[in-house]
Amino acid sequence: MSAYNRRDFTKLIMLGGIGYTLFSCVDDDKKQKSTVVEEKEEAFTVSQLLPENVKLYQKADEGYQELTVRFNKRFQQSPTYIAQCFTTQGVADAIKFAQYKNLNVVVKSGGHSFEGFSSTNNGLVVDVSAMKKMEWNPDHSVTIEAGCVLKEMYDELLPKQRILPAGSCATVGVAGLTLGGGYGFFSRKYGLTCDSLQAITIVDGNGNIRHESGNSAILKACKGGGNGNFGVVTKMKFRTYQAPNFFQAFRCKSYKLTTDRAKKILEEWFYHTQKLPISAFSAFVLNGTTLTILITNYTDDVKNVMPMYDALKKISDKATVGSKRPLARALTSFYGVQHPIYFKNACAGMYNDFSSIEGCLDNVLSKVLSSKGLIYQINTLGGNINSETAEKQSVFPHRSYSYLSELQSYWEQPSQEASRLAIFQEVQQLFYDHGIRAHYRNYPDSNFKDFEIAYYGKYLSELKEIKKQLDPDNRFQHPQSISL
Ligand SMILES: Cc1cc2nc3c(=O)[nH]c(=O)nc-3n(C[C@H](O)[C@H](O)[C@H](O)COP(=O)(O)OP(=O)(O)OC[C@H]3O[C@@H](n4cnc5c(N)ncnc54)[C@H](O)[C@@H]3O)c2cc1C
Repeated sequence: MSAYNRRDFTKLIMLGGIGYTLFSCVDDDKKQKSTVVEEKEEAFTVSQLLPENVKLYQKADEGYQELTVRFNKRFQQSPTYIAQCFTTQGVADAIKFAQYKNLNVVVKSGGHSFEGFSSTNNGLVVDVSAMKKMEWNPDHSVTIEAGCVLKEMYDELLPKQRILPAGSCATVGVAGLTLGGGYGFFSRKYGLTCDSLQAITIVDGNGNIRHESGNSAILKACKGGGNGNFGVVTKMKFRTYQAPNFFQAFRCKSYKLTTDRAKKILEEWFYHTQKLPISAFSAFVLNGTTLTILITNYTDDVKNVMPMYDALKKISDKATVGSKRPLARALTSFYGVQHPIYFKNACAGMYNDFSSIEGCLDNVLSKVLSSKGLIYQINTLGGNINSETAEKQSVFPHRSYSYLSELQSYWEQPSQEASRLAIFQEVQQLFYDHGIRAHYRNYPDSNFKDFEIAYYGKYLSELKEIKKQLDPDNRFQHPQSISL
């Protein structure tokens, strides 16, 4: 590993010039700390560039190749530099290096971006995946470094009987998931993952380290709009909740479906999910001609859970009631694939109810039923995701939608890619033509038209202001980053 080239560093030192001061803004009315920025003050010392903070890799370096691997094998990219960061200071140094070299920057935490937005073919990857410290605070909140993945977070929280409402796939990054919103089994009760975010440390486009909390507009922007747009989040402080004593899953399966039958079951599913208690979650998962309906719950409030299960059981081919299992054990059965695969996943729209998609369903369903490997899934949102307080404190614009859908396609050989992507796009076009326009930022599709509006809606102008403030040189760029 050649790591830093000494000449580069000498120039960087001269350029950085000066070290850091600390000042804080206090909202006098609310006495609520919102922003602390660490800026330059003293000489930029060599100690700030030590390998314990950051290691820089170039293509010929040992270890470089390993750092280019992402969960989606469709994206094999070769950045000019990779900065493997171990501390927030290391991230700040990496950004200053990017400034000096005039490089664009992308950020990598868990590496699960659907569309490869955490890598690049030129420019610098700031890789924070080695930053994995977790610290508890006396009030049961936990400060998590940005490199932690969901499994590591649950392994820390569950033995202490605490949870954070987040996704379930083991190797997804807590940072990437939270910064785009984040939802999972517990979100209808406790809100999106970002709604539990109380404070962050973020390095901006000038390499300044900022601590944001309380009523900070930057913290707000990172709750739904923070994915690789204007800074690198290095630490996140989360509120946590008492973990439930058990977790239970119900499943109804149907095979060899026709379009008519799939549509009837879906209509029934929409009808019953509207009545589910907020502790319950449900997903309609149509994989080719096989349908799985999942219902999960973790309280003894089975009102409307059992009636939904009983009604769907009657029209399904097979139904099972899972046992009440300890949460830690139950969650592992949803951990999913933990090694890189070829796939295309994307949001297929946010819906209010069955009528939102009824008009295009015949075409969508017949495409899914006749296309090998194409999966159409609809998940329940609603409950406390749609909270007024959360709305005011975040930039997630889709809270009023009760459903989030996704299309998925998985394959094994690169030769299958072109045909899979073509069918995928045909289905996306059907939704678009039907007027489906709102999409979840964490389920991006490079083909979305007007993606900024689709992801951020009414909050786009607010986010552009934050982009101007934190990243005036537009250093942070990926194919769907917020433009200046
Ligand atoms: C198998 C799988 C299961 C999933 N399940 C769920 C789920 O249950 N619920 C859900 O809500 N989502 C889910 N997702 C979507 C997931 O939330 C997003 O893919 C998320 O962005 C991944 O974050 P990451 O850190 O792993 O990815 P990365 O590829 O590292 O980053 C994703 C994006 O976030 C940016 N980013 C990452 N870290 C930082 C940082 N520290 N500072 C600033 N920007 C950063 C990157 O630049 C990139 O644009 C799933 C995805 C996959 C592949």
